Amino acid sequence: MAASANIVILGAGVAGLTTALLLSRRGNHNITIIAKHMPGDYDIEYTSPWAGANFMPFSAGGSRAASWDAVTFKELWRLAERVPEAGIHVQDAVIYTREKDSTSSEFFNDLLLRSPWFKDLVPDFQVIPQTELPPGVAHGTRWKSVCINAPVYLSYLASQCLKAGITIRRGNVKHISEAASLHSSGQPADIVVNCTGLGAHKLGGVSDKAVYPARGQIVLVRNTAPAMYTTSGTDDGDEDVMYIMMRAAGGGTVLGGSYQKGNWESQPDMNLAQRIMRRAIEWCPELVKAGQGVEGLDVVRHGVGLRPVRTGGPRVEREVIGGLKVVHNYGAGGFGYQASYGMSEETVKLVEDSLGIQARL
Ligand code: FAD
Repeated sequence: MAASANIVILGAGVAGLTTALLLSRRGNHNITIIAKHMPGDYDIEYTSPWAGANFMPFSAGGSRAASWDAVTFKELWRLAERVPEAGIHVQDAVIYTREKDSTSSEFFNDLLLRSPWFKDLVPDFQVIPQTELPPGVAHGTRWKSVCINAPVYLSYLASQCLKAGITIRRGNVKHISEAASLHSSGQPADIVVNCTGLGAHKLGGVSDKAVYPARGQIVLVRNTAPAMYTTSGTDDGDEDVMYIMMRAAGGGTVLGGSYQKGNWESQPDMNLAQRIMRRAIEWCPELVKAGQGVEGLDVVRHGVGLRPVRTGGPRVEREVIGGLKVVHNYGAGGFGYQASYGMSEETVKLVEDSLGIQARL
């Protein structure tokens, strides 16, 4: 006999949609997704559409985050190879550690290492021969990764949820207990899964002040890049970062970026945009025709997204709030896609534990 419960998922970003989809595969659950923002929306309160997004692990070897990344990579790779409508493709990842930056940092963890924990997970991992490194680069690695066309992938996830019989509705709740009354059956939900991202900062009943934004500004261009590039730093201060990734299926190339902690500003800073474009061409001249500079970039849009960072790491845990069973899945910061399956699988287990469901299907 399959397990059955009335479940509300609050949030329709990559966390909410992935959790809903995985839950739908575990029983005859009656699932309703409630969210203020949906795939197709572009809003500063909705992070997921702004992401690159690629698989570029910032997790430390042996950590919980590394196990989430490992689980997720396998699924994203499968989707890239076998499910074209998901909007994910395989690209080379090139990571450069500049001579002027340290070999590792709290932010990058293992990503800059010559022998990171994920070297046997990703195909074709290699340390780039010294003779092939650009000037000023101490060392680098090259390996196969995936790049997700975030808007296409969010729509794909939503379609998969609809196909699985999940109800998707708009709703803007002030307190998490309200979510329990919004189940499509009209009955109170047995459990609410909180996937509100940065919204957890002000959601009543949760009000998690450990969650804060790390502002990411990007430039989306029509130009193409031969690989995805990431550098260990820039000459423009600690809040500027450099990355380039070409999305699948005509999604354009994302030039990044910034990592501005505690900054809630929704509007693009055009000085920062100039720095982003200049740096991108420095590291990947193939973006433009020979001799061209920033004027050779064909801009689709400037964008800003707020990564939902959480002091102490993401919150994937159970809680009972005013008698309501809740499982949290938020605070993935800059790795919400690349950890999505791992975090959501753990969330599903916590939902089943909360509901006292023993049987695994
Ligand atoms: P969100 O996408 O913000 O979704 C939150 C949902 O909750 C929304 O539907 C919202 O409407 C809803 N909600 C919130 N509060 C309420 C409420 N009170 N009532 C109803 N609904 C509510 N990650 C990667 O893995 N790889 C990358 O390459 C990558 N690049 C990035 C680049 C940039 C510039 C940025 C900004 C982020 C990047 N990220 C990347 C991080 C990734 O985008 C996030 O970790 C992820 O999108 C977070 O998803 P989420 O579902 O938790 O939150």
